Order: sequence, then structure tokens, then C-alpha cells
Amino acid sequence: MSFKEARLKDSLNLLIIFLILIIAVNIMGYVYYQNQKDHITKEKQNELLAIADLKVAQIVNWRNERLSDLSFISDNPLVVSQLHQWLLDPKKNRLKEEILAWMRSLHRNFSYDRVIIVNSAGSLRLLIPEGQEVFGPNDKRLIAETIKSGKTIFSDLYRSKLEKATRLSLVAPIIVRAGQNRGLPDGAFLLRINPYVFLYPLVQSWPTPSPTAETQLVRREGDEVLFLNELRHQKNTALALRCPVKEKNRVAAMAGRGVVGIVEGVDYRGVRVLAAIKPVPGSTWIVISKVDAEEVYAPVRERFWIVVLLGGVLLVAAGVGVGLVWSDQQARAYRKQYEAELEKLALIRHFEYITRYANDIILMTGRDGRIIEANEKAISSYGYTRDELRHANMTDLQSPDSLENYEIQIKRLEGSAEKGLVFETVHRRRDGTTFPVEVSARVIRIEGADFFQSIIRDISERKQAEDKLSRAMEELSRSNEELEKFAYVASHDLQEPLRMVSSFVQLLEKRYKGKLDQDADDFINFAVDGANRMQTLITDLLAYSRVGRLGKKFGETSCEAVLDHALSNLQAVVEETGAVVTRGPLPAVTGDDSQLVQLFQNLIGNAIKFCKGRLPSIHISAEQSGNAWVFSVRDNGIGIPPEYSERIFSIFQRLHGRQEYQGTGIGLAICRKVVERHGGKIWVKSEPGTGSTFYFTIPVQKEIKS
Ligand code: ADP
Repeated sequence: MSFKEARLKDSLNLLIIFLILIIAVNIMGYVYYQNQKDHITKEKQNELLAIADLKVAQIVNWRNERLSDLSFISDNPLVVSQLHQWLLDPKKNRLKEEILAWMRSLHRNFSYDRVIIVNSAGSLRLLIPEGQEVFGPNDKRLIAETIKSGKTIFSDLYRSKLEKATRLSLVAPIIVRAGQNRGLPDGAFLLRINPYVFLYPLVQSWPTPSPTAETQLVRREGDEVLFLNELRHQKNTALALRCPVKEKNRVAAMAGRGVVGIVEGVDYRGVRVLAAIKPVPGSTWIVISKVDAEEVYAPVRERFWIVVLLGGVLLVAAGVGVGLVWSDQQARAYRKQYEAELEKLALIRHFEYITRYANDIILMTGRDGRIIEANEKAISSYGYTRDELRHANMTDLQSPDSLENYEIQIKRLEGSAEKGLVFETVHRRRDGTTFPVEVSARVIRIEGADFFQSIIRDISERKQAEDKLSRAMEELSRSNEELEKFAYVASHDLQEPLRMVSSFVQLLEKRYKGKLDQDADDFINFAVDGANRMQTLITDLLAYSRVGRLGKKFGETSCEAVLDHALSNLQAVVEETGAVVTRGPLPAVTGDDSQLVQLFQNLIGNAIKFCKGRLPSIHISAEQSGNAWVFSVRDNGIGIPPEYSERIFSIFQRLHGRQEYQGTGIGLAICRKVVERHGGKIWVKSEPGTGSTFYFTIPVQKEIKS
């Protein structure tokens, strides 16, 4: 992941956390707000219901009080009998004065607007106080009803025609009790009540301070609802203001339609209100206690703003917190990146230094071979300027003959991107001269793109040395061959004259032994012996020269069979000496079987020979070490002093006189030649007096020229 992507991911994580916080705060705020809203609304509704109940109870109470006032009068026998008498005889002025005094006290003390007495025909008899409008619009009908039924009647609120005043009437019959029976009424009392004095203030009064709350008294009249009292926000409404009962959202209309309990709607001003509707029992009146929705929901709104404010504060705090974390994270990341960059820069500088002054050419190229960067060594080696090199292609640096090889190597390199590749080719300088190079090329990935980096070593000197060496090797092998040829020719051609010398010396011995003097006999003996030795040496030399010259083609050879063959050749000497020969498992190798037989035969023969009186014990084994089989032939013989361990492999080198041990010193020389021809080495490890072990190797995979 790149630095930018990592930053973006961190920022995104923080943003998600912040969003979750926003959602959580909003949900919490919403739940809390809803809770508060429900709580406040419920409380307000309960309050309204309680007030409506209170108002209904107060109104019922007030009405009952008025009725009991009336009973107090109509049940008072003293008052009733006085009235009875006066009504029968209106000329009794004294009685009239008493009755008037009583009526005045009623008017004054009980706050009745009018106190009226009518006779049984319904005609006005007495009136306190004096005034123009005596009866209300329905009063006469109510009086007639009372006189007829003998019952007390409470009128509804009405508006008097002349005075345009809102009033209520209470009518009670005047009946004298005669024992248990009641007679016919002699007339009736009529008490008129001014609702402004007590009823309206009672209805209007609100038990708690509120800027909008009020109680309305309404009744249904046909398709309309009539407001019965004076309202808080509008004057002259009592028995004047009406609203159609059909109006859906009007609270008064709802009351008119018989809705009871808590409602929400608009009032007479068209303002939204919360209201409690309760009918007043025993009347047509309905109490509506209402308060403006605005007032009800003011605390809810207040809570809302508090929640918003608190939520806002929380969000700002969360935002600041997240912001701080973010900036801290960013700062840390940038610091880290800065440190990493510094480190990288130091590394780059170091790398640049190394590449610039490296002893090898270092080139960085694109996949198309275009040279992107070159070091000092490249500039000095190719003779181009840095700028020229940067505009050149790798193919420009190849010698024309090596171009094809270059293409092949590049294809191989693309196939082995992981490992890189080392190959030799020839490069060309600016002046056209060429030089051999060893290229170590590798694909490197920088910022997602592949480049080739080649470290190129001028191997002119190495090549020269290699050439020199191979020439020397050639020379050596040629001279070796010549030597072998010479040895062969010499030994072969020497045999003839030697044979002649030898036969004539033997003839001399035959004819003249004991005929000349003692010295002559000795001389002849020396000559015979010398000729014999010379013959053996020449035979050995011939055998030695044959190893290189007359070797067979290599083939799959079982070393077990080779050893068997060698032992059968040595059978006589083994039996003669009683030598014990043991062996481990031996592998099959690629080689010349007759030469390998000779190799084993020479080594085992020596092991038996250099034993000096001991019973020879010989063990032959082989084990694999790396790419070669290591064979060993171990004996318990006289051993070889370490200083001679090299010399014994040279031709005609011996450590003992002929009298002591027979031999010419050619055996181990032949062994070495055979082993070397098979691509191996031969050496000895020995402890004088205890025994020797001869080791030789034969490669497991053979690449030897046969
Ligand atoms: P030769 O056996 O004819 O003397 P070689 O070339 O076989 O010649 O051996 C050279 C010399 O190495 C021997 O003269 C002997 O001194 C020494 N030599 C070889 N094999 C052994 C051995 N198994 N133990 C001790 N000495 C040995």
C-alpha cells in the first residue's frame, strides 16, 4: 500500500468513526427529545384535564348553591305566608314594605341582579331594583311553567333585549303548605343573575400562571356552537360568538360534536391550541379548558434547543477529538515517512557513491534496452559522455558479432527474473574497439516498473590469461605427446641394439667365463646385469608410454569385476604370501577397464610386496564424496615417510634398493597416469611401520576425453 493510500485509509477510518459519533449523538438526542416531549405533553394534558374537571365541579357547585338559595326562600314558611297574604290582598301596605325590604336584602346580599315577584297569572307584582327591562326573553314562559308544575327552574344564559345584558334566571313557585299537601302556587319568585359578577370570573380564573390559558363555556345551538362567556382574547363574545359545528379543526366545534377529553385544534382566533373538553352535568354547557400549543410546546422547544445545543457541543467535541487524532496520526505518518525518506536518501547517496566509484561498469536500462543511468566506470570504459550514454541503447554497446547473443541473453533474463543471469559477451567502445565482458544482469522493480541492472566487468586480462593458459596447456599436451612418442620410439628403437649388446655380452660370458682373469669375469657379469636391467627399464618405459597412447575408449565398467580380474592376475603371489584381501562394495564407473585392472593390480601388488615379513592384510573400498568416487587400498605394510608421499608417484622413483625389494619404480607412475586419464587424483596417507592407504578418485559423471 502506498503512503497516500495508507493516509487515505486512516482518514477514512476516522471519518467513519466521526459519522458513527454523529449518528449516535443524533439518535441519543432524538430519543431524549421524544421522551421529554411525551413527558411534557402528557403533563400538560393532565393539567388541562384537571383544570377542566375543576371548572366543571365549580360550575356545578355554583349552580347548586344558587338552587339552594332559592330553596332557602321558597321553603321559608314565614316568607311564603307573608307573600301569600300580600298577593291575596295587595292593599296591605305594611306587608308590602316588609316584602320589599326582604327583596332588597336579597338583591344586595346575594348579589342578584333582579328580584321579581309575580302573581299566579304571571303579572309583575313587585320588582327590586326598579328598571326598564323586567323580564328576560324566556322568563314569562318559565314563570308559567313553574306556576303550572310547581317546580324550580334554572334558565339558560340569555341576552336581555333592551339592556343587551347577559343574564340567567332562577324561577321558583310561591306555594303555601297546607299540612302535607301543597296547594296551587300563588305566584312565583324570579331571581336574575348577572354572570359577570361571579360565574364568568369563576370560569375565567386559572389556577396557575399562564399567558394564554383560558376556559370557555359553550353550548350547541342547532348547527352552531355558541360561546357563553367572555373570552380572554376577544371582547363581547358571551352569547354573541358562534361557530359552525362542522368546522373540523375548531376545538369549540369538536365540543359541539360531542368530543370529550384531550384534543388538539384551533380556537376562535385560529390559533393552534391543546384543549380538554368536559360537559357540565345537568346543563347544556360544555367546559373547554385550553392553552395555546405554542405555550404547551415552548418547554418542548426549549428542550429541543437544549438537546440541539448539547448535541452540537458533543459533536464539536467529537469533531475536535477526531480532528486531533487525525492530525496526530498524519503528523506521525509524515514524520515516519520523513525519517524513512531520510534513511532512503542516505542509502541512495551511499549506493550512488558505491556505483559511481565501482570498479565495474554499472548500467541501468529499460526493458527496451534504453540506457537510463551509467556510472563513472561506464563512461571511462566506453569512451562516451554520460549524456551520450543516456541517449544510447544497450545494442549500441554490443560488438556486431555479439548482438545475436545479446538478444538471446535478454530473453533468458526475462524468463529468469528472480535469479538474474551471468554471461560473457563482447562490448564495443565509442572508437569501435571491442573488449570482452562478463555481464551480471538482473531485473529490478522500481515503483512498479521493471528495469535491467547490469554489472559489467572488463575481462580482457582474464581472457588473455585464459588464452595464455590454454596455449600453455596445448603446448604441454603437445610436448607430452611428443615425449610419449619419444619414449616409445626411444624404448622401441633402443630394444634392437640393446638386444644385440645383451646377446653378444651373453655370448662373451658363455665363451670366455673362467678363461680370462677374474677381473674379466667380473666385467662380463656387470655388462650382462646392466644389459638385463636396461631391458627391464625399456620394457617399463614402453608400458608407461602406452597408458596415454594406446588407451581404450571409456565405457561402463564394474569396479567389482575389475578388482576380481586384478586379483586373479595376482593369484599366485597372493597364495604364496597368504595375503588376506577384503573389500567393501564397489561402484560402476565410466572408464577403461584394462587400465583400471592395472591400477588395482599395481596398488595391491605393492601392498603385498612392501610388507616385510608380516602377513599382508589388504582392504579395498569406495565411497562417494561430492561428484567423485573415492577409492582406497589400505595395507598393514612398512609405510612411507611423509616427505616421500609425492615423489613415489614419479617415474623410476623408488625408496629401496633392488636387493631389498624388486622393482623399477614405474608402478605408481603408471597408476597416476591411469587415474589422471580418468579425470581423478591419486595420493597416499601413511604411517611408517604401521601401513599405508592409497586413495584415488574417479568422477561420478564423466566428461573426460577418451
Ligand atoms: P616399485 O614397486 O617398482 O619399486 P613403485 O612405483 O610401485 O615402484 O613404487 C615406488 C616406491 O614407493 C617403492 O619403491 C616403495 O618404496 C614405495 N611404495 C609403493 N607402494 C608401497 C606400499 N604399499 N608400502 C610401502 N611403500 C610403498
